[in-house]
Amino acid sequence: MIPKEKIEEVRDRASIVQVISDYVPLIKRGQNHTGLCPFHSEKSPSFTVSEEKKIYYCFGCNATGNVITFIMKKEGLTFPEAVRSLAKRYGVVIPDVAKTGPDPRELLYQALKASAEFFYKELSGADGASAQVYLKNRGFDGEIAGRFNLGFAPNRWDGLTGFLKKKGISTEAAIDAGVVIKGDKGNYDRFRNRVIFPITDVKGRIIGFGGRAIDNSMPKYLNSPESAVFKKGETLYGFFQAKQSIIKEGSAIVVEGYFDLLALHKNGFTNSIATMGTALTPQHLRALKPYGSVYALFDSDQAGRNAAIRGLQLFLSEEMACRAVLLPQGKDPDEFLALSGPDGMKKAIEAAEPLMEFFLKELEKKVKLTAPEGKKKYFDTAVEYLLKVKNVAERGHYASIVAATLGMAPSAIYDAIKMPLNGGFGPSKAFKGVLEAKGSNLKRGLIQPELTVLRVLLKHPELFSDKIETAIEVFRDPALKGIGLFIADSCKKGLKMDASTLGELKDEEAGTVAALLLREDDGFVESPEKMLEDSLKRILNRGRIKETTQEIINKLEESGWNEVASLIKKRFEAGPSGKGKP
Ligand SMILES: [Zn+2]
Repeated sequence: MIPKEKIEEVRDRASIVQVISDYVPLIKRGQNHTGLCPFHSEKSPSFTVSEEKKIYYCFGCNATGNVITFIMKKEGLTFPEAVRSLAKRYGVVIPDVAKTGPDPRELLYQALKASAEFFYKELSGADGASAQVYLKNRGFDGEIAGRFNLGFAPNRWDGLTGFLKKKGISTEAAIDAGVVIKGDKGNYDRFRNRVIFPITDVKGRIIGFGGRAIDNSMPKYLNSPESAVFKKGETLYGFFQAKQSIIKEGSAIVVEGYFDLLALHKNGFTNSIATMGTALTPQHLRALKPYGSVYALFDSDQAGRNAAIRGLQLFLSEEMACRAVLLPQGKDPDEFLALSGPDGMKKAIEAAEPLMEFFLKELEKKVKLTAPEGKKKYFDTAVEYLLKVKNVAERGHYASIVAATLGMAPSAIYDAIKMPLNGGFGPSKAFKGVLEAKGSNLKRGLIQPELTVLRVLLKHPELFSDKIETAIEVFRDPALKGIGLFIADSCKKGLKMDASTLGELKDEEAGTVAALLLREDDGFVESPEKMLEDSLKRILNRGRIKETTQEIINKLEESGWNEVASLIKKRFEAGPSGKGKP
């Protein structure tokens, strides 16, 4: 068990903005930071982080929590693991308890880091001469090798194995990390006589290696096996080095090979990353999504075109923008750069079309549009894909292309893809999360003054009064009433409303409070007193109208006007919208 005060110390000392920024670019807006939500698909930022309150909240999907729960969700850690990892980062000393022990992955990271040191030194050592020549022949000098910490695995069976032993790295960790192989006659190095590409996670920690044979050995490329810290389908080679550029450009260039990536970086395309010889996975896209759009490079041969179309499905389901950059037939990015230089690459990138447009053109080529069967095939397939475009504006854009290709009126396509007539404008965005969380049958007019009272109170606890407490007592919404009483209680006790206080609430309640706390101030900054007064009046008058109505009903009944009384009663209970009480 980690002592409670240590957990609080970690939560206080950790910068939630800094931690979340490792995953999502955040921009300061007013007192808070905002960015694209890492927990759901969105195009405009509704994810809000408050350094002061130490919490985050998404107005889109209602995800909420503090720095510890964020790390738990993003890294798949248990609570104590998350606390320990933050404690380490922010220098909070937690007494070690034998029961939990250190993170076993820590030993893997140590083994991998030591291995990277070994490979790096070997490249500049006497044994590394052949690898240096190899790299030079492929056009890579010391600068790019240094930027990516390239190394060399010497042509020996026990080079790294011996080095790690001397360094005090346990054999078990070296085997688990995949750099040493357990053999019948003893352990030996996995990578031999290869140029080594250290693979890092987004924080720059070494998680595995790729190795390219410098002679004719097979396989040409050898990767570390998957381990507790290395998952091939989730890893993007070069992400750590490219991250700042990707943020700056708002886009990432994706290739498949190590040397393609190095060539792009060498030629100034520093926002490039590589999958490890595999196609893009949903995990890759989710990692890239917060940073903007993707340029994927494809060979323009048929295989490359097919690969691009396969990728389209994935981009559509992740709601991500992708442009297909087609390189001349048979040329991989490395070769293309050597041939056409950075200017040629720049032109190819600028000419890249949105993947959906590329797909529609390919489809048009495949079917015979002069024949009715061809038209039908084109229409059916296009509609099937258009329906997967979630953004209405984009769907409309592609629909007009389909209409033009078929020589049809756009409205015919709109019918088929069920374009809504209005653009889906609903309640103001900031309240949407709260309203949705509370169920759509709740009338906005009913809870709005209640929400306002809570918001003002959260931002200005000094305004707390008995009148507010009375108003909270008559809140119509039971959940908001519960939260209101909790806030009132905290005000009375002088507790600050932040991550530690919110920790005592249930998830859903904490989400509502976070939403109220982090909502942008829209004009309410100037006169919180007035907003509070107006809302209190509305809430308290509601109670008064109810009392007055009841009095009238009673009087009517006493006087024998029973029919009129029951009519008024019915009408009152039905509420202003006539649909009954919530
Ligand atoms: Zn979200």
